[in-house]
Amino acid sequence: MSLSGVTFISKFESYCPQWLAEPGDPVGLHIGTLNKELNKVMVTLDVRPEVVAEAIEKKVDLIIAKHPPIFRPVKRLDTDSFQNKMYADLLKHDIAVFAAHTNMDIVENGLNDWFCELLEIQNTNYLTKTHSIPYKKLAVYVPLENAASMREALGEVGAGTQGDYKNTSYTLVGTGRFTPMEGANPTIGGIDREESVQEAKIEVIFPETIQKTVIKAMLQAHPYEEPAYDIFTIENLVKDYGLGRVGQLNEAIELEEFVKKIKQVFQLDGLRVVANDLSQKVQTIAICGGSGEKFYPDALANQADVYITGDVYYHTGHDMLTEGLAVIDPGHYIEELCKPKLVELFNQWKKDYNWDITFIESEVNTNPFQFK
Ligand SMILES: [Zn+2]
Repeated sequence: MSLSGVTFISKFESYCPQWLAEPGDPVGLHIGTLNKELNKVMVTLDVRPEVVAEAIEKKVDLIIAKHPPIFRPVKRLDTDSFQNKMYADLLKHDIAVFAAHTNMDIVENGLNDWFCELLEIQNTNYLTKTHSIPYKKLAVYVPLENAASMREALGEVGAGTQGDYKNTSYTLVGTGRFTPMEGANPTIGGIDREESVQEAKIEVIFPETIQKTVIKAMLQAHPYEEPAYDIFTIENLVKDYGLGRVGQLNEAIELEEFVKKIKQVFQLDGLRVVANDLSQKVQTIAICGGSGEKFYPDALANQADVYITGDVYYHTGHDMLTEGLAVIDPGHYIEELCKPKLVELFNQWKKDYNWDITFIESEVNTNPFQFK
């Protein structure tokens, strides 16, 4: 089945929505259009001229990037600047760019969870709370024979997800009554005829952030001209999201051992360690991929033995030492893990939905730093 950019991104958004991004983070469509058919999608950490050249050569239609390429507003579009030339090349070759940045750090089963998986950090929770989302409940009434497809349509857009369960719902069967009036175009019955229909009342919960999508999916799946439904505010369910993760290793190990493990897992030539004692035992681990130094007080508050994050600044390193927090800085580039992980996820969707499309990882190394 051919796949449009709009369909692919709406699936992507149901996994990693833009509302999860930090305020002011320029996520979403950066360049080009999604109103086209996709044959090849490439995942990259950074959009750099070398990556754009690769995308042109490989005839890519859409780039999914962790780092938004247009981070500062563009004041003029002279293509003598290499950054602008890159935008122009993308437009010229009809390559769209879509960015998922801090939402990818916050989303569950996202980048920070993948880091934890690799490092065998378990029982994780978020490091720094970013969102507290209240839940709502939808009750919709449909003819019995439409109940299964309605539940499916609601589950498809993420309604009914609670904890580690998806597609949760409650169905009650009853009788719906109505009399179509002049001007109506009823699916069942005729004008001025009293009808009674065996109907299912389906109840699902959903985070209020996806209310519009849920209602739209419900209306699309409903056979009636005037669907009956109610939306309730519920008070007992709020879902928290946050940046970074904190969790436990199976057993306490020496910091030096853990450093070796990180070097090996991420295949690093070198990394930086801030610590008073490399032989100290560590078990509670905090991690925030990318540049997370400003969250080190949260690592302390969560009683982490060590905090893993990139781009640690010289003077912040002093503060961390003084406050007794061991920190491992493996560099920002470990975020390239998003490439294989997203391609794996996209290929699963390809299988599930029978999409006719190719997903690839960018093969360009965009790490500006080398160890000599
Ligand atoms: Zn980053």
